Amino acid sequence: MDFDLNEEVIAIQDMARKFAQREILSRVNEEGFDRDLVTKMGELGLFGCAFPPRYGGSDSGFLAHSVVCEEISRVDSGLRPLFNLQAMTVPYTIMEWAIDEAREKYVQKLVCAEKIGCTCFSEPNAGSDIASIETRIEDRGDHFLINGAKTWISNGTVADIAVVYGTHDRSLKHRGLCAVVVETDQPGWTTRDTPKLGDKSSPIAEIHIEDVKAPKENLLGEWGKGFVVAMTALDRGRISVASGAVGLAQACLDASVKYANERVQFGKLIGEYQLVKGVIAEMVSLVEAARLLVRRGAWLNDQDRPFTREIAIAKYSAGEAVVKAAGMAMEVHGGMGYSLEMPVEKYYRDSKLYQVGEGTANIMRLLIADDALGIKKANRPRIHVPSDFRDLE
Ligand SMILES: Cc1cc2nc3c(=O)[nH]c(=O)nc-3n(C[C@H](O)[C@H](O)[C@H](O)COP(=O)(O)OP(=O)(O)OC[C@H]3O[C@@H](n4cnc5c(N)ncnc54)[C@H](O)[C@@H]3O)c2cc1C
Repeated sequence: MDFDLNEEVIAIQDMARKFAQREILSRVNEEGFDRDLVTKMGELGLFGCAFPPRYGGSDSGFLAHSVVCEEISRVDSGLRPLFNLQAMTVPYTIMEWAIDEAREKYVQKLVCAEKIGCTCFSEPNAGSDIASIETRIEDRGDHFLINGAKTWISNGTVADIAVVYGTHDRSLKHRGLCAVVVETDQPGWTTRDTPKLGDKSSPIAEIHIEDVKAPKENLLGEWGKGFVVAMTALDRGRISVASGAVGLAQACLDASVKYANERVQFGKLIGEYQLVKGVIAEMVSLVEAARLLVRRGAWLNDQDRPFTREIAIAKYSAGEAVVKAAGMAMEVHGGMGYSLEMPVEKYYRDSKLYQVGEGTANIMRLLIADDALGIKKANRPRIHVPSDFRDLE
């Protein structure tokens, strides 16, 4: 592995950094979903790193995707869920698992931000345990009929297209799961905004699904094999989540270095005190270690190699790192950490999600430990998708 980013990825990183400084920084405290901003991100190609040109992408890869995600999150971690959904989990899952008809219909529109996507796993009684999903997907001959309820759905109030996970037979547990693409402009699809601690620029919804239909060509993967679709989607989503955690941890470090170099107490800059230096050193080490782990996971994916174990380690480590870094940033800022005038209170609120989304810290620990103990191997040979989009060019 080359630890230097190549010229292409450096150029993309530079573009994303400039965009975030120019377009995101000024509105970071506004809160709420900004459709115009998302359109601009799509037009600039920020969502397209992992996609081939025929789907509106640049084919620059997962490492490039990770680097862009880090830059966006460094300025507003609240945009990271949207970034994940537009640049990875929704279009990539459709690209990998849909038949041509659905792939042509949805992928490019999502990557270019003409349409907004969401992913619907979570339910009131199914969080970490997605095999206990209760939403019903029935095969009605010429269409699928869907009924159920979803919670905590990022982009839920604004999405045009949803990847919905449901079951055709609950008694089969994970063997009954199916994944379908649903267009949300149907009377039976109703959403309610969920108030939350952080990520204020990312809308979250409870969704009620009543007699919603999906055409047969919108099935992802095979009937009853939605669990495999879910696992590949979660692995890929973990690249975005872990990258976002690195970006936010870097923001915590940036703010802390700045403050420690400005704030004077007892006649000296606080950055000159060894105890404060110790905190800064710890933050630097956390950020750098997490970044290397995340980039290894993304790089493995770029090599088309198994990466489930490595991205779980990265997601777990980056999630822990960002929560620690946010706490340390609060400490370095003293009372000003608590102030709404400084960015670190937002960093602190936004950081906690990184121990929850795309598999909680405990679920990552289970996966990593089961692999280490020989109970269950995390990395298996790459799953062959139904038709390989890479051969389409
Ligand atoms: C801001 C936000 C955005 C989200 N966006 C989406 C989205 O877009 N789409 C979507 O589908 N979901 C989304 N989620 C939901 C998220 O994926 C779930 O919250 C997460 O999977 C955990 O599920 P849960 O909240 O039901 O917690 P639970 O699964 O009930 O877990 C509660 C606690 O128990 C622990 N636990 C559970 N099982 C085990 C076990 N076997 N061993 C050890 N510990 C265990 C967990 O680690 C956790 O600490 C979002 C959540 C939030 C907060």
